[in-house]
Amino acid sequence: MIPRWSQNVAYLLAHQIHDGGRAWLNCTRCKTRREVDLAALIIKMNPLYSLWERRPLCPTCKGAMFVNATWSNKGAFVIPLIGADAADLHAAWHREQRRLAGWKDG
Ligand SMILES: [Zn+2]
Repeated sequence: MIPRWSQNVAYLLAHQIHDGGRAWLNCTRCKTRREVDLAALIIKMNPLYSLWERRPLCPTCKGAMFVNATWSNKGAFVIPLIGADAADLHAAWHREQRRLAGWKDG
């Protein structure tokens, strides 16, 4: 299950403004790293545009890039927005955080 905070660029931008979250691109070949301009993407695409499973070409080496994201700058989990494993891992982590915090509804 894809965590809600990462579902689209609108949620990602809201978390960026509210909690210091970020999304950035990493090149698997040359290690180029670029911040994702979430506000620009909302204007260019739409607020519901998803960064999941995007593999844009690297501007430096034309290798495949992927998106990493986190919802907060306070030691939050970073997940690659690719593959169901990352989403499942995040969901398990989130359930555990809620359990530890005393939430009963998982
Ligand atoms: Zn590259």
